[in-house]
Amino acid sequence: MIAEILCIGTELLMGQVLNTNAQFLSRRLSALGISQYHQTVVGDNAARLEAAYRLALSRADVVITSGGLGPTADDITKRIAAKVAGQELVLFPEAEEMIRTRFRQYRKEMTANNLSQAMFTPDTTVLLNPNGTAPGAIVPMGGSKVVIHLPGPPFELEPMFIDQVEPYLLQRSGRALVSRYIRIFGMGEAAIDLRLRDLMAGSNPTLSPYCSLGEVMLRATASAPTKEEAEALLPPLLDEVRARLGDVIYAIDEDDSGSLARVAVDALKARGWTCAACESLTGGMISAALVGVPGASAVVRGGFVTYQTDTKTLLAGVPAEMIERFDVVSAEVAMAMAQGTRERLDVDVAVSATGLAGPDGGTPEKPVGTVFVGIATRAGARVLPLALTGNRERIRTLTVKHALSQLAKEAGKRVQG
Ligand code: AMP
Ligand code: MG
Repeated sequence: MIAEILCIGTELLMGQVLNTNAQFLSRRLSALGISQYHQTVVGDNAARLEAAYRLALSRADVVITSGGLGPTADDITKRIAAKVAGQELVLFPEAEEMIRTRFRQYRKEMTANNLSQAMFTPDTTVLLNPNGTAPGAIVPMGGSKVVIHLPGPPFELEPMFIDQVEPYLLQRSGRALVSRYIRIFGMGEAAIDLRLRDLMAGSNPTLSPYCSLGEVMLRATASAPTKEEAEALLPPLLDEVRARLGDVIYAIDEDDSGSLARVAVDALKARGWTCAACESLTGGMISAALVGVPGASAVVRGGFVTYQTDTKTLLAGVPAEMIERFDVVSAEVAMAMAQGTRERLDVDVAVSATGLAGPDGGTPEKPVGTVFVGIATRAGARVLPLALTGNRERIRTLTVKHALSQLAKEAGKRVQG
């Protein structure tokens, strides 16, 4: 089965809106093992959209559209698909009911043109939209080809795709797919590639890398006629990956929502520990990452943002003479920040970060990217000196990841970095 994504909206062509729907959809489709050979963005123009439909349908079995399902004149997605199918749009009462319900919920006046959102060609399967007024649709286009319409806003499109379209596509392709997500911190993509190249060349299961800042995620996916058969294909591959990479793997999950923050929170929770962060260059990002994990309230007690030098003394109790003597960006100050925070907030473990995120402020002895992550427990304090590279954003984000991995490590989870 071949799928093709067709994103509709002049705002995408103008660069006003980033086409995140294309990335989301293509990631999910490739995880399902469904091939895609082309992707198109087209503006809200009837003639060009019609041509885009015809071309996409000439080379794909399933064409997935995003956008243009609204009630206004520039929302032509369904009308042009109906024209290509040679069919009329008719009112679907259950879709009308859904839209009326949604307007009641939002306490908004429904206008006559909103009814156009409830109109589809006769054999359409309507996809309900719990997050907006525009229903989606699976529209037969003749032969075994279909067009699947999804609403433009990502928070409407994404759940609709996962909950309603993926089951349809899986059933249609007649196969089951299972995946595991292997999360790695502390080894770069090139080093991983070197160790796993032969495994990444496999076709079932597949093993593919996804890089984000400082981290690599590997997705192992197996497909088979049944879920059980697909599951059975994974363990030998996972064992081999574990054997070759060892400690740098910090999680193997059934979905891709895992993160260093979650691993840290889970490890702290398992140990019954509380934590806090004292942050200079990260300005609260470490705490925000921890608190982003549901259930973090069991472990995160609070934290300090000590951005200007004297606030490290004021909030975390770092002696001013120490800052004077060793410099605000130093191993000593990082440890004192963590220790002071640990004592003042009475937590089991505190983490700190002080460093130079740039672009200004670097010196030959302490260039931009010099960062110290301090870790203090009831047993004592230590420091992780880092020499990071890249721009301000990258340095700050990498600092957060190192701090989280140190928290996880301190709580007993082996995470290198
Ligand atoms: P529409 O359904 O075409 O009116 O789109 C509604 C809104 O969804 C647009 O204003 C964008 O903010 C958003 N949107 C549309 N297409 C995309 C896309 N491909 N990626 C991300 N956001 C989009
Ligand atoms: Mg639009």
